[in-house]
Amino acid sequence: MSDKTVLIVGAGVAGLSAALQLSKNSVKTIIIEKSSFHGGHAASFTCKAAEKCVKCGACIAEDKLKKAKTDDNIKIFTNSVIKKISAAAPFKAVAENKAKRFDISCDAVITATGFTLFNPASKPYGYKKFDNVITNFELENMIREKNQIQKPSDKKNPNKIAFIQCVGSRDASLNHLWCSKTCCGSAIRMAALIKDKNPDTEILFFYIDIQNFGKDFASYYKKIKDKIKMIRSIPADIFETDKGLLITYFDKKTDKPIEEPVDMAILSVGITPNNSEIVQMLNLKTENTGFISKPKINEAIKSGIFAAGAALGPMDIEEAAASGASAALCVLKYLGEHNSKNING
Ligand code: SF4
Ligand code: SF4
Repeated sequence: MSDKTVLIVGAGVAGLSAALQLSKNSVKTIIIEKSSFHGGHAASFTCKAAEKCVKCGACIAEDKLKKAKTDDNIKIFTNSVIKKISAAAPFKAVAENKAKRFDISCDAVITATGFTLFNPASKPYGYKKFDNVITNFELENMIREKNQIQKPSDKKNPNKIAFIQCVGSRDASLNHLWCSKTCCGSAIRMAALIKDKNPDTEILFFYIDIQNFGKDFASYYKKIKDKIKMIRSIPADIFETDKGLLITYFDKKTDKPIEEPVDMAILSVGITPNNSEIVQMLNLKTENTGFISKPKINEAIKSGIFAAGAALGPMDIEEAAASGASAALCVLKYLGEHNSKNING
């Protein structure tokens, strides 16, 4: 199939994984990525291994990226967007970046546009108002870059940290009823890593319930949960005082409101749909949540339009990689069935 080219929109884990799978079958791919970097959100995640690997999946993104960058069948254009595309085969697209506008002819399309992070500025937690309230993604970046946790206000190590789960997920007031699936596992692993680096740091973990997705997570959670103060409540507010942050929440056991001083708060923000223009251009169906409807395999194999990864709904890094590979296998089936038509002419 060396004469075939597939357009992939999105250079996150799913898009890269699809491209690598297609390359194994000698299919060329052109990846159009609107941001300046490859690997999607997962590329900024840090390794959470303390004594041993805790299966956070962050290295999957790095591995895919390294392979894709050196694969001659894969061309990645960052800072680029699709301006136009025909919604049926043969696919003709126009892409654009700062330097140029260019035409793309391709035999199939995979939409792997990923997700948008919930912006917690609308919640009463002082995000962007108080220096020491940050998101879980900002914490990932901090630990990846500095290999330690520091309060943004004075660069000192915090003595007491609160993780607040489900910020922007499972929230009826926002009509975001879905679970983002990745944040419990990621926050628990992060809390364990912080404890390992600084055993005296006190960690509070505010949650609705712990979602247990991913391989071996249950046994891992059992081992570390006693090192963390687990509080089954979602805080009402965060205030800033001259001593630090003050978290208010309702204690269900005592039926009383509690005020808890902390040095730093980490908001586990939700995964929300990425309202990418490509969805409209290709007339893709979406769910009430806004995520792309999982294409029925038979329909996709007729149309040549596929979707993969978290554009279909929240999923962890491993699932996103599997989803990309699975979309690529469907594309190969489609290309096999349409081989004789030589769409590119
Ligand atoms: S899976 Fe996570 S913890 Fe394990 S080695 Fe990879 S990045 Fe580190
Ligand atoms: S994974 Fe956990 S923190 Fe994330 S939305 Fe689901 S329950 Fe909330």
